[in-house]
Amino acid sequence: MTTDPTVVVGVKQVPDDDEVRIDPDTGHLDRASAPAVLNPPDRDALEAALQLRDAAGGTVVAVTMGPPTATDVLEEAVAVGCDDAALITDRAFAGSDTWPTSLTLAAAAESLGADVVVCGEETTDSSTGQVPPGIAAHLGWAQVTYAEALEPAFDEDRLVARRDVEGGYEVVAADLPVVVAVAYGEFEPRPAGLHRKLYAETEFEPLELSAADIGLDDEEVGIGASPTEVGGMETVEPVERERETVAGAEELADALAETGVVG
Ligand SMILES: Cc1cc2nc3c(=O)[nH]c(=O)nc-3n(C[C@H](O)[C@H](O)[C@H](O)COP(=O)(O)OP(=O)(O)OC[C@H]3O[C@@H](n4cnc5c(N)ncnc54)[C@H](O)[C@@H]3O)c2cc1C
Repeated sequence: MTTDPTVVVGVKQVPDDDEVRIDPDTGHLDRASAPAVLNPPDRDALEAALQLRDAAGGTVVAVTMGPPTATDVLEEAVAVGCDDAALITDRAFAGSDTWPTSLTLAAAAESLGADVVVCGEETTDSSTGQVPPGIAAHLGWAQVTYAEALEPAFDEDRLVARRDVEGGYEVVAADLPVVVAVAYGEFEPRPAGLHRKLYAETEFEPLELSAADIGLDDEEVGIGASPTEVGGMETVEPVERERETVAGAEELADALAETGVVG
């Protein structure tokens, strides 16, 4: 029976995708061209974690792996109601791909005594969606992805989730500890209260943890521990598509035959 559960929420700072530009020469994101904001799907993750606390008690701790400026997203997390927040920061993390990123977040979750880790569906700057399953894999924990509703069953050491699947949904129960990635748009984020906002901006200081603090060696993280290789990049021009309206199945078959794609 899990009483007083600790729910850790992964939140990431990303460039505002309404304003970010791509460097035409290198094809890379010009991160400096846009203000940094909280990854929008992580607002849903925060709301899902807070709903778990509303229903079952315990503590919600927001965690971000990033540079010191990422403290801003932790302040937002505290403003909407997180009890605490931790900045996982170290020069050794530079250049980490999803493998060391998920290893780092896994180690942080374990150090913070997490029973549940809640993440967003994906980020708007890298959008691999690999980090939540990666955290679960590193820890050997259960994972639930595309969760659209959560129900704590902590007296049975379980979490029940409704998952979005093609054509419908399924309800699954996972043993704790568990990593959950919530479906974007399914958890309407609550607004920050004024007092909480003031507290977050003026008094709150996040816990700051380095690689060593969470039991990682420098060689386990950063670019040297990142197996991803970017083979190249190209800008793809939008394709002009032809459109034709047909009256029925017969006309559709004729139109398809004319394309030569089907005989
Ligand atoms: C070769 C390579 C080098 C890279 N070098 C850099 C670099 O130098 N600097 C850089 O900023 N990025 C770098 N990246 C991008 C970085 O690896 C990814 O941003 C990171 O691994 C997270 O992956 P994602 O954004 O696809 O997360 P997703 O898997 O799409 O995220 C899903 C969820 O996981 C959680 N999450 C993800 N990342 C974090 C985080 N950092 N903190 C807390 N929660 C999180 C959030 O809840 C998020 O909604 C590099 C990527 C590659 C492939």
